[in-house]
Amino acid sequence: MGSESMGGRECVRTDSDPASRVVPAALLEALRRRIPVAVGNPFHRDDAMSLMGAGDFRDGLQATAIADAEARLRRFAPVIARLFPETESQGGLIESPLRSVLVPDDFIHDGTSAAPVLAKLDGELPVAGSIKARGGIYAVLAWAEELALRVGFLSVGGDYDVLCGERARAFFSDRAISVASTGNLALSIGIMSAKLGFRVIVHMSRDAKEWKKTLLRRAGATVVEHEGDYVEAIAAARAEAEADPSIHFIDDENSPELFYGYAVAGARVARQLEGMSVSISEENPLTVYLPCGVGGAPGGITFGLKTRYGSCVRCIIVEPVSAPSMLYGVFTGRYDGANVNELGLDGRTEADGLAVTSTSRFVTRRVEPLVDGFVTVDDDSVLLALALLDEWNGIRAEPSAASAAAAWLQTSRGTGLHPDGVPGLSTASGPSMLWLTGGGMMPDDQRSRVLSLGRSLLGGDSGLPDGR
Ligand SMILES: *Cc1c(COP(=O)(O)O)cnc(C)c1O
Repeated sequence: MGSESMGGRECVRTDSDPASRVVPAALLEALRRRIPVAVGNPFHRDDAMSLMGAGDFRDGLQATAIADAEARLRRFAPVIARLFPETESQGGLIESPLRSVLVPDDFIHDGTSAAPVLAKLDGELPVAGSIKARGGIYAVLAWAEELALRVGFLSVGGDYDVLCGERARAFFSDRAISVASTGNLALSIGIMSAKLGFRVIVHMSRDAKEWKKTLLRRAGATVVEHEGDYVEAIAAARAEAEADPSIHFIDDENSPELFYGYAVAGARVARQLEGMSVSISEENPLTVYLPCGVGGAPGGITFGLKTRYGSCVRCIIVEPVSAPSMLYGVFTGRYDGANVNELGLDGRTEADGLAVTSTSRFVTRRVEPLVDGFVTVDDDSVLLALALLDEWNGIRAEPSAASAAAAWLQTSRGTGLHPDGVPGLSTASGPSMLWLTGGGMMPDDQRSRVLSLGRSLLGGDSGLPDGR
């Protein structure tokens, strides 16, 4: 146990010293060779939530910040309902359905299918069609509110409708919001910012799909294309904003707003589960599969879920074999300072939203004690899962989203490698939740492309229902 000072406060570091961690050789080898793994998190702590509640963690997280985010989203709900009529039926709240899914028996190794398998359909989130409609939109609203209060055309407790007015638009149009993204974050932040009247600058990495750039340009955004990967795009965006005070940069690697915007999902899912009469307990724990890029979305949702359910929920981080950046950052104890390039991995994957070679500074060390395990998946199993979701359940998932289903399949079939020296991923009997993080805005030709790739992997004797 060491001690470390932060902001003048002496805090005891309660976890194992990250600087002295050594990644087990068998795990390194599996990562280098892109072999899918399913491992427990040796740095998980059952007492993490209570330690955080007591302020006893060096890098604490605040449940009160989730409550603040919930309250802010409620204040903005009338504005959202006005700007995006498709949200009117939900009173201006941006939320997605939760439903159960069918998986063909052939794809499961034993009786694990007996417990319900639920899918959280973030591809159906209004406005942006992906999980980024949670954190991204929240971060824009938080900034708009701060500016409007500062300038005085909005007062605390006042009428938020003024934010839809001409005066607000004129004011916001002198300012820019910028973001770096592999695609979906830019879509959610770009669409929301443009709707309020801000100028929008998006820096896109080489992994960003062309159709996402087209949609953004259509929404009025300036799209800056980068030859390099996400890490390069975000560095360029940050430098640009530092040099120009009219630009507010929403930093995916360092943003508490994004994180707490995502975390709001925890309590909302809990209400949906209650509505479906699914009860969660120590005996009947919920296992959630969360696709992970920089870690903001899965990290925030993990914190939201743990705040609600404590150890009755198990949160599994899902990453592509070519970009296991959260796993690697935690196991090395170097967090955002680690980069999977060191392993000879390039981060290239069909799961473009997860094509991230190193993770968020804000998130990684903070969620480390909360995460229960890590699963990596290869592109073939992602595409196969995508086809199963589509054919059996009529769910349109983009590859990043389908990785949650791939991880679940892999875990239930026991096919993820569990290298020597690392705890295995303990299996639990309760319900599973596949967080299907996006796909709502994927154009038809893109969908056909990934779907036919997935179908070809199923082969002739696919076990798919006849006539489909
Ligand atoms: C961004 C994204 C993720 C991962 O979120 P991070 O905050 O980058 O970890 C997962 N799925 C989809 C579809 C995404 O767009």
